[in-house]
Amino acid sequence: MTTRTKRPFIKLDCDVCKQTNYHIATTKGKSIEEKFEIKKFCKKCGKHTLHKMKLK
Ligand SMILES: [Zn+2]
Repeated sequence: MTTRTKRPFIKLDCDVCKQTNYHIATTKGKSIEEKFEIKKFCKKCGKHTLHKMKLK
């Protein structure tokens, strides 16, 4: 049995170094805010930075 669910992925880019650090799978039917910002740990910066959502 093959189950293939196509879910849009949200990319979270570090606002400081612009590196994509996180991918979040969106739940179907769930609306996403156009502007999504969250504080996450950036490996490149070595600290918590503001990450901004990038929706393709
Ligand atoms: Zn960074």
